[in-house]
Amino acid sequence: MTAGDVWCDVCRRVIEDGRQVRGEVPDSSAVYVYDLGFDGRRFVTACSKEHLTVLRERYDRRPFVDEELWVGKIARVLDENHDALRVDRLAEATGLTVPQVERALEWQNARFARWWNQQCGVPAALSL
Ligand SMILES: [Zn+2]
Repeated sequence: MTAGDVWCDVCRRVIEDGRQVRGEVPDSSAVYVYDLGFDGRRFVTACSKEHLTVLRERYDRRPFVDEELWVGKIARVLDENHDALRVDRLAEATGLTVPQVERALEWQNARFARWWNQQCGVPAALSL
């Protein structure tokens, strides 16, 4: 395997030049640094139409969660701004509405609290 190799996301085999089959799947965990218009879509590569179908089926089973996408957009803005941002500024910078930012943060907090509970067995006391 060399740096320029492209491999199949299903069988992990290196795909010969020109043989790759590409597709696009909905994925609420996909956010991009440069192509913000592609947020929520993931680009996948397979060695054959059959393996592209396998990938589409995998992503079809994964729920598309709006809050997850919004958290990704918020995280992208926070990566660039190390100072704490107010919710209204965060909304402006992410292109989301204030209620969407608030819902996304609540969703992320709930997920973190669940994870913390599983790891430590004690409820996490979180506040925004
Ligand atoms: Zn394959």
